[in-house]
Amino acid sequence: MNMIYGIMAAMPEEIEGVVKLVENPEVKIIGGREYIVGCIHGKKVIVVFSRWGKVAAASTVTTLIDVFHVNQIVFTGIAGGIQSDLKVGDIVIASRCVFHDMDTRPLNDRYVVPLINKKYFDVHVADGLLENLKEIFSSKNIGDVVGDDWAKQFNLNSVLVVNRAIASGDQFVNSQEARNDIKVNLSEVACVEMEGAAVAQICFEHDIPCTIVRTISDSADHSAAIDFEPFAKYVASNYSIAIISALLSD
Ligand code: SAH
Repeated sequence: MNMIYGIMAAMPEEIEGVVKLVENPEVKIIGGREYIVGCIHGKKVIVVFSRWGKVAAASTVTTLIDVFHVNQIVFTGIAGGIQSDLKVGDIVIASRCVFHDMDTRPLNDRYVVPLINKKYFDVHVADGLLENLKEIFSSKNIGDVVGDDWAKQFNLNSVLVVNRAIASGDQFVNSQEARNDIKVNLSEVACVEMEGAAVAQICFEHDIPCTIVRTISDSADHSAAIDFEPFAKYVASNYSIAIISALLSD
């Protein structure tokens, strides 16, 4: 089968980085979004800035599937760290995704998606991705990814790359209370963001694999908004270039 990859990111900075990799780009606008069609490392891709939140992500994935006939989705983005061993710059490859704001009690248990009756959506992990990213983001190589100065400034000399669960919801989590609710009630969740579970649900419903990779940009507490800006601006785009290259080169 000829693979067509739908590559999504929720930050303009990340998309800018990935767009630089696209050969012979052609732009198609649907629903106010720019879908950039072309090739990366000889593979057919459609790159799109999904915008933030579950609805934006779900409608973008559906367009990628229905209009562009992609057969694999790749999502890169940033996230707030929940588990305490994770720090800014670490990477979480999703193992499964859950909506932390889904709550239809008493009709269903908390977090269970009605009618589908699932709490967690399993997410595909591309072969060798964990090992590849560990190597690319190792202390000896991180300077090549983000530049030595940024590596030093953000203390990126020991980047952790893990394969764990991710929680999504329509909320920028930036208080100890909101963070703790996830930490306590969804203890296997490593980080929180606003799109992953929506992407995973649509891909589950269409039987299409998706790979979701998140970089920790903040710690989802009161300092989240402060940490977030410089990381997103200066580091996230280089991270996504490295992650997408790792996924698409074989
Ligand atoms: N305060 C920021 C908004 C960032 S949220 C600003 O003013 O620019 C935007 C994106 O980052 C979303 O796509 C979400 O998936 C991700 N994200 C990063 N940290 C997050 C957090 N602590 N909570 C929820 N989403 C987060």
